[in-house]
Amino acid sequence: MFSLRVPKRIPRATASLPDKPQTNFAALMLTVLIVLTSSPLAAAQPAPADNKIQTSAAAKETSAPTPTAKKEKKDKTSVTDKKTDDAKPASPLLKIGCLKNGKRIIESISVEEYLRGVVPKEMPPEWSSEALKAQSVAARTFALKNRNRHAAEGYDLCDSTHCQLYVPQSETTATDKAISATTGEVLLFGGEMIDAVFHTDSGGMTEDSENVWGAALPYLRAVQEDVTETKEWSKKISPQDFAKTVGMKKPEKIILSPLVVGKENSDRTKSGRVKSLIVIGDGSRKMFGGTNFRTMFGLPSTLFGISTDGKQIIISGYGAGHGLGLSQYGAKTLAEQGADYRTILHHYYRTVTIMKIY
Ligand SMILES: [Zn+2]
Repeated sequence: MFSLRVPKRIPRATASLPDKPQTNFAALMLTVLIVLTSSPLAAAQPAPADNKIQTSAAAKETSAPTPTAKKEKKDKTSVTDKKTDDAKPASPLLKIGCLKNGKRIIESISVEEYLRGVVPKEMPPEWSSEALKAQSVAARTFALKNRNRHAAEGYDLCDSTHCQLYVPQSETTATDKAISATTGEVLLFGGEMIDAVFHTDSGGMTEDSENVWGAALPYLRAVQEDVTETKEWSKKISPQDFAKTVGMKKPEKIILSPLVVGKENSDRTKSGRVKSLIVIGDGSRKMFGGTNFRTMFGLPSTLFGISTDGKQIIISGYGAGHGLGLSQYGAKTLAEQGADYRTILHHYYRTVTIMKIY
């Protein structure tokens, strides 16, 4: 369920994170050290003030696609969008497993009818029409790509965020128009439907797929946002809760370079998302993957830095969701700047073809 409200627009490279080195740790049970060197294992040094943009929010991200590893391959299709003149088949039928009063009821409906109950739940219908069209194409592609997800249970897709949120009779005029204007259009790479994943807010830059799934998909590359609507999120954690969550009796230091969106480091991806961080304590050190750490602490994204106010550990960051594929807030911003839905889709899904298959 999309629950974000629109934050105010922040031009890129204006906001900054409070990732400042801490100097008075004596009373702290846990010391947070910000390391600037290229190795997360190197000695701590003072951090510069961050001066790049970033983002907001709570979030929803589409169900993560099945992490089927695909090796990078040449795009066999033209980069140009295609429309074939062949007779088109009708909109395929989908079996949707809907949970009603605790019972699973299977609804057989066409893809286009299904989307009428999906798009308004994935993106606020009052957003720009081109953003809604981009969302429609992504949701259609996602549905067709993942239609065997629940084959073992006798249907194609469920009605929850595990697949895509589907609520019958939730259609709106705006989303119906966007779906209708893009009827049958899907995203292809190498002649195959892509994993058209999307997320709420990139925080300023999306991510390479291998940094989230381990599989390098040529169309899911990190792309920068020129302008982003975003605000910082922050979470305060007591040293006791931190210790419990990381499984240590007495954590003493956290080693993580400061967050700068779009700046790579040995412990950060090229977008600035955390690849790994180290917690030292109990006479040993533990390394945590960024995605795992995000899950452990229930963080909106892996685009974060860590500091302390002398009493608590503060994890602050930008963005919401895994950061792969289309950023919904980014699509909104691009549409408001005059981009059409094709431009938006090509921005977030690199070298794909938009094809009308029915
Ligand atoms: Zn499902």
